[in-house]
Amino acid sequence: MLYDNLSVNELGHLTIGGLDTVDLADRFGAPLYVLDEDQVRANCRTYVQALGQYMPQGSYPLFAGKALCFKGLYPILDSEGMGADVVSPGEIYTALAGGFPPEKLYFHGNNKTDEDIQYALESGVGHFIVDNHHELERLDRAAGEMGICQKVLLRVTPGIDPHTLQAINTGRIDCQFGVPIETGQAARFVQSAVGMKNLEVLGFHSHIGSQIFEAEPFCDAVDILLDFADQMRKELGFTVRVLNLGGGFGVRYKESDPVVDIPGNIKALSEHLKEGCAAKDYPVPQILLEPGRSIVANAGLTLYRVGGVKTIEGYRSYITVNGGMTDNPRYALYQAPYTVLPADRMNDQRDFQCTIAGRCCESGDLIQENIMMPKAERDDLIAVLTTGAYNFTMSSNYNRLCRPALVLVHAGQARLAVRRQTFEDLIACDL
Ligand SMILES: *Cc1c(COP(=O)(O)O)cnc(C)c1O
Repeated sequence: MLYDNLSVNELGHLTIGGLDTVDLADRFGAPLYVLDEDQVRANCRTYVQALGQYMPQGSYPLFAGKALCFKGLYPILDSEGMGADVVSPGEIYTALAGGFPPEKLYFHGNNKTDEDIQYALESGVGHFIVDNHHELERLDRAAGEMGICQKVLLRVTPGIDPHTLQAINTGRIDCQFGVPIETGQAARFVQSAVGMKNLEVLGFHSHIGSQIFEAEPFCDAVDILLDFADQMRKELGFTVRVLNLGGGFGVRYKESDPVVDIPGNIKALSEHLKEGCAAKDYPVPQILLEPGRSIVANAGLTLYRVGGVKTIEGYRSYITVNGGMTDNPRYALYQAPYTVLPADRMNDQRDFQCTIAGRCCESGDLIQENIMMPKAERDDLIAVLTTGAYNFTMSSNYNRLCRPALVLVHAGQARLAVRRQTFEDLIACDL
């Protein structure tokens, strides 16, 4: 099994967190998002403990809400000692509705509107990750008007492509987020920021990418950020107290993907950081990480009912399911790999080569192509694994399909966390 929380019971059914997926689909309907809360909690603990053990006091992980965001998730994150990234007022609203402490929120975004800034300040959001000069000026003014001194981190781009491990790859500097170090613009950004009366600059933020399986790209980022921090200390007398290294440890979508040793990587990163700081006689900053995918992806799966099988003789066979790109657009968008399982007949021979198609009026609405499954029949149950991240949050009402429900599995019990949309929900905003 791809993950330890998955198993097969005596009926040959797939289980998650000990619960039979066939029972879950019978009880809550399909398509259905299932999220193993215990796995989410275990993933949170891995980060909280490793950062606590290896990094300076005050270091902790922030969950990136763009990976998964619903009210009921936030009490779980809070109780596990996580902070949270938010990228929009809607995410702030959701986190606060879930009772999350605003001081542990970190507000991202490359185009925060004046309304967004106002809303976040009024909500008491603890930290802004300031993306650019415009935001810096507008935030300083808004904070001043409210008599607030707002804590900020400055987003800089170190210019690293984590997948080629090539430092100073212009491809990565050339992006819409943050201010590049290499061009000298980040130095001017920091200079302006530390001169702002209503902002307290704690340090820098950088996010180098996603699906990273080793510590090395993060170490490269640390090298560049420390050089830059040292330069800023010399030029401005400004010392970084917090370094936020962004998100990105990878997860396994297929058996062929490696298993990431998160504590081992954090330990390696901390040693690298401490050596780098010692060489410069620089105080070791607190470290923040922003995992999204690696907190929730492997805790989730999606269940679908099979509608039918279509074989085009001499070409290929399709198994059609009652969801698709509306609940998981990632294959349609960028051919994301997934493991698909026959949830109700796990012990059957997988000798039928097929493509899993959704139900939308779009030939690109596929979940996975050319995989091996048992020959399916109508009403069979299919599970797509590792869908806890970037599925629910990227879902849509295309073709006016209702969004599926989301069920949390905890200590052998299932409870509804997000109910299935109804037709009334679909027309709720239509006047
Ligand atoms: C996407 C993103 C993350 C989360 O990335 P994962 O791959 O889901 O861990 C964290 N921080 C920022 C700034 C991001 O854009």
